[in-house]
Amino acid sequence: MSMSSEIEFITACKEKVLSGQKISKEESDRLINTPEEYLQILSDAANEITRKLCGNVVDVESLINAKKGKCQEDCSFCSQSAFYKTDIDTYKLLPPETIVQNAMLSKNDGVKSFCLVCAWRGPTEKDFEQISSIIDKINKEVGIEVNCSLGFITQDMALKLKKLGVKRYNHNLEAPRSFFSQICTTHTYDDRMETNLIVKNAGLELCCGGIIGMGETRMQRLELGLDLAGLSPEECPINVLVPQQGTPLELQTRLSISEILRTIAVFRFLMPKTILKIAGGREVYLSNDQERALLGGANGIITGGYLTIGGNSPPDDFQMISKIGLEA
Ligand code: SF4
Repeated sequence: MSMSSEIEFITACKEKVLSGQKISKEESDRLINTPEEYLQILSDAANEITRKLCGNVVDVESLINAKKGKCQEDCSFCSQSAFYKTDIDTYKLLPPETIVQNAMLSKNDGVKSFCLVCAWRGPTEKDFEQISSIIDKINKEVGIEVNCSLGFITQDMALKLKKLGVKRYNHNLEAPRSFFSQICTTHTYDDRMETNLIVKNAGLELCCGGIIGMGETRMQRLELGLDLAGLSPEECPINVLVPQQGTPLELQTRLSISEILRTIAVFRFLMPKTILKIAGGREVYLSNDQERALLGGANGIITGGYLTIGGNSPPDDFQMISKIGLEA
């Protein structure tokens, strides 16, 4: 491929996306395989799409692991699965006051949204009632946008969350369809798809993404991106696996920075208006390159730590965002 034709191709795809058209499967195949020497051009094009269609704001969210560990599912990347001997601390659903306090701290730090996450297959009716009253308390006492990630939920539960004013529901596809059974055997990819449809049917915004770097191929990463795009999520978190001791993926080879940046850029072409959030793995992999990710297609971060690993503090993140000329 000559230099000009590669640049011309990336530019043509970018123009197509900017004019509101979708790129074809063949075009996305070629984009994800952009030769290394044109990676910056690919990132710049993804950045232009982001700036033109999403503006300069970076979505900053914090989350709380409201119930940790002892999950009955066997997701092989997850240190919260009861199947593996990991050394994380575990706890049942946190007391409402603790969760409300955390929401307040996030709000005071200038964080825009607060996501309640529980490690379980899905809530029982009793769990759901407790969660509902916690959300009610946050609404009354804090007033911050509340999002949830509660696993598999029924249509009825989704409708109740909507009524409670929950804005967005997170349920990731986690892995590409063709790779999913190697990652989890206690539920299927279709189970996950179904929950996403329940969420959308209830009128909740959908936050749906996945984890890269679990041993899938580059083309499988694209497969995941295409499926995600098909769901048109309002938000898509891209996690990069941080191998957790005691899990089956503890020795997984880490992805290169360029592979991560390539994935983020192409996901932007596939989901031009979605909040693409660099989530778990940001601090571990991207320390100084996170600015490149935010100038290469990503426009969201999770601040203040993740479910089982720590993260940057909100003030540090806000400083980083303004340093690169973006807003939070
Ligand atoms: S990813 Fe979620 S469902 Fe899977 S084991 Fe971890 S907490 Fe459970």
